[in-house]
Amino acid sequence: MREFRLSDILSPRGIIYWRRKLWESQYYTPERLRELQWKLLTRILDHCWVHVPYYRKAFARLGLERSDFRSLDDLSRLPVIDKFTVLDQREELKADNIVRFRPREMFTSGTTGTPVGFYWDVDSTVLELISQWRHFSWSGYRLGDAFLDIRSMVLRSGRDHQWNRKCRGLELSSDLMDSTNVGRFAELLRRYRIRLWRGHPSAMSHFIRLLQAAGIASIKPKIIITVAETLLDGERHLIESWARIPVGDSYGQVEHVALICQCPKGGHHICSEYGIVEILNEDGSPARPGEEGRIVATSLHNRALPLLRYDTGDFAVASDQTCRCGRTLPLISSFTGRTDDRLMTTAGRWISGLRFSHCLTKGVRRAQIVQKDRDGVDVYVVPTPDWDAETEESVRRELRKRLGESMDIRVHRVAGIPFDGGRKFKFVVSLLDSKEPVDRRFSREALRKA
Ligand SMILES: [Zn+2]
Repeated sequence: MREFRLSDILSPRGIIYWRRKLWESQYYTPERLRELQWKLLTRILDHCWVHVPYYRKAFARLGLERSDFRSLDDLSRLPVIDKFTVLDQREELKADNIVRFRPREMFTSGTTGTPVGFYWDVDSTVLELISQWRHFSWSGYRLGDAFLDIRSMVLRSGRDHQWNRKCRGLELSSDLMDSTNVGRFAELLRRYRIRLWRGHPSAMSHFIRLLQAAGIASIKPKIIITVAETLLDGERHLIESWARIPVGDSYGQVEHVALICQCPKGGHHICSEYGIVEILNEDGSPARPGEEGRIVATSLHNRALPLLRYDTGDFAVASDQTCRCGRTLPLISSFTGRTDDRLMTTAGRWISGLRFSHCLTKGVRRAQIVQKDRDGVDVYVVPTPDWDAETEESVRRELRKRLGESMDIRVHRVAGIPFDGGRKFKFVVSLLDSKEPVDRRFSREALRKA
């Protein structure tokens, strides 16, 4: 897969161990999972204590001794940090022996603001690789099966596709797909006998619409995994009704602190062996089942730039349910988007803008909602011939219902979506983040009360 270098994959020490472990631990009792997490967290805490200047100073400032951490619950003694902490104090967060962990620098592709640089080390990369392998296997993937990686991207070769022989992956750029070449792309999938599709849901939806228009139905995959973007309801419906299999959605971040994978029974499982996930209310207390909160996570593996209680900027609804698939990995109920997927109502409340995807389907090839100020939002629509004045009015009505009757809803018919979001498609773009104090006060002060 393109995120991994061959040198990472050729680190067999961790691979053999974790391949066996992760296939067993997905059925552990909750107590045994917590034991495993505590063992891994102990290693990270010891490391931070000795080798990470930021944490050495934070522990001293908070008057904490290493012996004060006696169980997973003691993690809550630490304040929550966020990407601004990393932006401001990255050098201090780097381990003083970072070279030992063969770090690789990666940058977030934030839609707003400055990209932030993180490090992946070999251990966290191995966990990422094996955890994804396990996720694919839930739907019947076997190592060696050919897969498609479809995204909005520029391929290194400069071509519109490339075949990676070593990991049997066909990489396609959806940016260059249209009705004139969709048949050639379909032929490539046939030639390489692709069983698994993996990629951005927006890119996959674009490909499927082109295949439907061309009447090509003979290349349906056996497994579908969506990554990187929030999967919208309309996209899930399109993909599942065309392929006639459930989509396995997944959630992760460049920071490698949390991984959540959807099983074929629909459960969004937290990969507890990968990171500790907390869903927190605005005051920093744990969200109860059914409540929405921020995803705050702690990497259990990355020692190059360790992140303890890191606010991912994403939101989810907590759950205490168990899954019909029999796996005991804990669940979340649903994702409710990222900070920049949020819109602010006229009353000053943040709500998830993703909920509006259902009212922007009829007559819409593509749409995007952008909020630049508190009083209005811009809705950009690439229309199909079905778009009419009545549809436009119903969009205004639906948005005002949730955002406030005085909200100025400006609908623009456009040939292309204006805000490309750094190659990932963004249905909602909030540009309020840097101007608006509410959200920042929450993440930087309320959560740092410790
Ligand atoms: Zn499940």
